[in-house]
Amino acid sequence: LAKSQGGQRYAFFDESLKQQLLNRVQVEADLRTAIKENQFILYYQPQVDLAKGRVTGLEALIRWQHPEKGLIPPNAFIPIAEQTGLITTLDTWSLREACRQLKEWQAAGLADVTVSVNLSAQQFQDSELLPLVATVLSETGLRPEHLDLEITESCAMSSPACAISIMQALTELGVSISIDDFGTGYSSLAYLKQFPIETLKIDRSFVMNIESDDKVASLCDSIAHLAHRLGLRVVAEGVETEEQLKFLVSSACDSVQGYFFSKPLPVASVLQFAHSFAWQQVGQPVTYFALD
Ligand code: C2E
Ligand code: MG
Ligand code: MG
Ligand code: MG
Repeated sequence: LAKSQGGQRYAFFDESLKQQLLNRVQVEADLRTAIKENQFILYYQPQVDLAKGRVTGLEALIRWQHPEKGLIPPNAFIPIAEQTGLITTLDTWSLREACRQLKEWQAAGLADVTVSVNLSAQQFQDSELLPLVATVLSETGLRPEHLDLEITESCAMSSPACAISIMQALTELGVSISIDDFGTGYSSLAYLKQFPIETLKIDRSFVMNIESDDKVASLCDSIAHLAHRLGLRVVAEGVETEEQLKFLVSSACDSVQGYFFSKPLPVASVLQFAHSFAWQQVGQPVTYFALD
């Protein structure tokens, strides 16, 4: 009996592994076609500066417009793009497209807004990154202070000494750097203070538990204070509720990003949102409103 069960388990395992491999091979082939046929688009999620009460940042988030499967979120293809090395092609496209798009919005009257672009670890460590960023800025005419590059905490910490020198070179170009998903990696505080970065983004996994877990709330509060002591800005990601927002206001978070204010928006909706959005904090309780 044990033997036949073992055999079945093996067969089952083998089958699902085969499925995974087939899926990977299929997605990789599809991705190559998608790159050739330009099937990617960017959505932009507003970042609201709480002191200014307006949109001061837009995070560019890639989506795959699959001809049959519709809009595919990044989590469904970024891991495979990373495994196959296609990620640097996607990141290069996102960077160029986001800079071009912000420049176009600036021409339409959008002022004092920065675009944030996510970089994979591969792209961050690529020796071509610096010339690429410089070329994209000069091609698009975007001023470097309007470009922010997001790298994850785990990417920055995987080889901190290397990361510092890449970050230094990038900041010499005039762009700013944010540490994304902060709190999910294992930051050495000694390195954190040496990174020439501007912003820490508190990961959504913390923000979502602010109301249910006092310890998580204290952690968010501590991260915000730590960041400020290091002279960094703090952005909270994944803010969905008014309670979370109130807490983050009380922790002196600088900006928030999340469904409470806005989901990532298609290009056509961004200008109207940014122009009409206003948020005001009138004592307690916090009030907010979006004008139309
Ligand atoms: P991320 O950089 O941490 O981006 C934030 C993610 O959280 C986005 O998911 C966003 O839609 C989602 N989010 C924001 N606010 C909320 C909220 O209130 N509730 C919930 N449930 N989710 C919220 P998205 O767009 O699916 O992107 C997932 C990840 O894919 C990004 O995480 C980023 O790591 C990666 N990514 C996106 N675009 C690019 C790109 O161009 N290059 C690279 N290398 N990675 C990218
Ligand atoms: Mg990000
Ligand atoms: Mg993030
Ligand atoms: Mg995240």
